[in-house]
Amino acid sequence: MNILDGKLVSQAVKSSLRVLVEERIQNGKKVPHLAAILVGSNGASETYVASKVKSCAEIGFKSTLIRLPEEVSEQELLFHINALNEDFDVDGILVQLPLPRHISEQKVIESIYASKDVDGFHPESVGRMVQGLPAYFPATPYGILLLLEHYNIETKGKHAVVIGRSNIVGRPISILLSRNAYPGNCTVTVCHSHTKNLQEICLQADIIIAALGKAEFLKGDMVKQDAVVIDVGITRVEDPAKKSGFSLKGDVDFSSVSPRCSYITPVPGGVGPMTIAALMKNTYQACLAKD
Ligand code: NAD
Repeated sequence: MNILDGKLVSQAVKSSLRVLVEERIQNGKKVPHLAAILVGSNGASETYVASKVKSCAEIGFKSTLIRLPEEVSEQELLFHINALNEDFDVDGILVQLPLPRHISEQKVIESIYASKDVDGFHPESVGRMVQGLPAYFPATPYGILLLLEHYNIETKGKHAVVIGRSNIVGRPISILLSRNAYPGNCTVTVCHSHTKNLQEICLQADIIIAALGKAEFLKGDMVKQDAVVIDVGITRVEDPAKKSGFSLKGDVDFSSVSPRCSYITPVPGGVGPMTIAALMKNTYQACLAKD
């Protein structure tokens, strides 16, 4: 069993971006600028946004963080997004999800200019991705592709089983793995909460992407010998032994699954850091598009 080390690969991606940014500075070109909006004070969202801002600093990107109270109106949030849309210096805009219930996530996603949609959630970005046109891929699926690529994992002709069909992970990774490119050219099965015989389907998979958000759901008896297992899940589970009071669990039961795998991502330190690296790559591309 080999570990797909997302921490290591994300550092490599960020280091290569840092070199590119230094070159841009030397050539008097614009430095990439990511603007993030955080609504409320959800603990997990705070952590994700802080890591994104920290990564910008490490690479040499400019970042702006706009914090808005939980009670902010949808109108005011859209006003802030529009100001960022119109600000030439801002290359990428991300609004950390989830949003409070009184705000329509779809409206917010659609209000971001597609040219600044570095999260890749805008219908235009998704449509372009589906059609195989240049597009910002959603950060988590893009991070998974970068990880597979880094470890030269063969995907052509493989059967990939994706568990989960959300717009941010399951659906887009299923599309990307079926495209005619590397990583891709897989035969993809998408499973979801209404799938029957999940174990039977998983046992046929050469590659499993677990993205359902249920701690340690995928067990060793659901995985074929030598499969590649990508664990997207992050669930906070109470853990009195930890200072924070919780520990992070993936969707994969690492202890029973890892002995059967050829490759597996750990949680934490797998897909999480790759998501941030992918977001940084998208932001760099958004800046490059303005040259
Ligand atoms: P979601 O709740 O939007 O979607 C979950 C999907 O899993 C749904 O499509 C549902 O049909 C499916 N599902 C639920 N129970 C199932 C079951 N028993 N069998 C088969 N399918 C089932 O979740 P999401 O936003 O896609 O996130 C999934 C997980 O990934 C969460 O733990 C989330 O925290 C994590 N996540 C991690 C990253 C990262 O950077 N590592 C990024 C995004 C999401």
